[in-house]
Amino acid sequence: MKVLVADPISEEAIDLMRREGLEVDVKSDISQEELVKIIPEYDALIVRSRTKVTKEVIDAGKKLKIIGRAGVGVDNIDLKAATEKGIVVVNAPGGNTISAAELTLGLIFAVARKIPQADRSVKAGKWERKKFMGMELRGKTIGIIGLGRIGYEVAKRVRALEMNILAYDPYVSEERAKSVGAKLVSLEELLRNSDIVTIHVPKTKETENLISEREFEMMKDGAILINAARGGIVDEKALYKALTSGKLAGAGLDVYEKEPPDPDNPLLKLENVVTTPHIGASTKEAQLSVGMIIAEELINFSKGLPVKNAVNLPRVGPEEYQFLLPFMELAEKMGKIAVARLKGHFKRVRITYRGAIANKNTELVTRALLKGILSYMLGESVNLVSALPIAKDRGISVEEAKTEDVEHYESMVEVEVEDEKGIYLAGTCFGDEPRILMIDKYKVDFVPRGHYVISLHEDKPGVIGRVGTLFGQHDINIAGMIVGRYGGRGGIQLMLLLVDDPPSDEVLKKMVELDGIIDATYVYL
Ligand code: NAD
Repeated sequence: MKVLVADPISEEAIDLMRREGLEVDVKSDISQEELVKIIPEYDALIVRSRTKVTKEVIDAGKKLKIIGRAGVGVDNIDLKAATEKGIVVVNAPGGNTISAAELTLGLIFAVARKIPQADRSVKAGKWERKKFMGMELRGKTIGIIGLGRIGYEVAKRVRALEMNILAYDPYVSEERAKSVGAKLVSLEELLRNSDIVTIHVPKTKETENLISEREFEMMKDGAILINAARGGIVDEKALYKALTSGKLAGAGLDVYEKEPPDPDNPLLKLENVVTTPHIGASTKEAQLSVGMIIAEELINFSKGLPVKNAVNLPRVGPEEYQFLLPFMELAEKMGKIAVARLKGHFKRVRITYRGAIANKNTELVTRALLKGILSYMLGESVNLVSALPIAKDRGISVEEAKTEDVEHYESMVEVEVEDEKGIYLAGTCFGDEPRILMIDKYKVDFVPRGHYVISLHEDKPGVIGRVGTLFGQHDINIAGMIVGRYGGRGGIQLMLLLVDDPPSDEVLKKMVELDGIIDATYVYL
């Protein structure tokens, strides 16, 4: 197998591939045009974030079978184009966890003790000992938002500093938090009680602007904020205000909404901001680790062995794949609905295949369901391959059942997801169109594509009209509506609204306040 390394990766990784018989060419400063020119010779391509693997590159790569991303984010690779060509894309999650956790600690110390500011002052010929009064960390409380790989490693390390640890992560268990000495609390409790707040969540729709004006107001006066996760999770305008009003003592930032930030970004002018240029993963060890993970993936692939971290679809026979594709969409969307409605710490996922689909290799469909559930919490790093081990890691039990028994349809998929509560969904596919038939005991029957509001309401006159009026007042067009009635008139019923635009949190809140509305969830399917 002929491999092109288009961005710098560790020598050790290159040596390993060569020892295993791969033919490796290293052109780590190759231009985009040159890449398109030479890619037809190669079976495999390795990149970091510099090289853009565009559709043009993929189309030109006539022999290309696998693309390795030495790192995590795959936003520089056109996944759709790669998948359509049957090219496997692999990444290296976890390889930079320790480095990102250590940078977080570095930023905490730097802000708490004003180390960069003091360094600049001494080098400018001054000796201002009073100016650089710092904060001791022992006995202080750190609030970790997101107790995943990096958040967990940060917790492990700050234990040694004798800090109290609070964590907010609705998707992890008490046991996981306890095992690292952290107490799981609500976001508000964390913000109100932490001297240092550090962010380690992925950037998803849910975490965008997670820390904004309201959250800063809740924070302790003189607290410190660290963001070495992703730009956009913290609202930069609100952060600027909190830093200049004296609410926050300081901030440590490795990431920005726009990278690189504009030179006139006001945060860069603040003395109480310590900042680095997105270098969380920039250590020799992390680069070695991600390089080795990718090298091993390519070696396995060249021997026909399965890869562990495929970001896109693994290969299945074309006919079976065509059959499974709509069921995968159905299952992923069922997962999204389940997690949007439950929002809890999941314990058990059960999927039952009925009819014709029971005779197929349904593993991809089960994985798609888990991907739907987990990606809502963990963002795009979850893929069909990683979904199962991640679910196991998180203590979610996954059960599959198959039966040829089915009524009315050729195939049916039933899903039950349990947290403290639980949800049941059933669906089928007509041709390549997935359809959700049941949500809990309510009959619905809809094609899950678009923006939906799912809500429970009391079955009495006027309720639906009030919802229509509210949406109208906020210029939200209702494109479709289903009321899944259970039993006769009265009782609690389910309403499903297809809307042209996503409703804001404020509109959803107002909807729940309407007489007769019990709850309302927005989900993009
Ligand atoms: P991870 O997937 O292991 O963990 C993320 C955690 O966030 C999960 O436990 C998840 O349950 C939790 N979470 C999701 N949504 C949440 C919400 N709304 N509220 C609270 N918790 C929520 O990811 P990781 O590898 O630990 O990475 C964490 C972040 O660090 C990511 O944003 C990643 O992109 C970033 N990162 C940055 C650098 C850097 O160079 N600065 C390097 C590596 C990773």
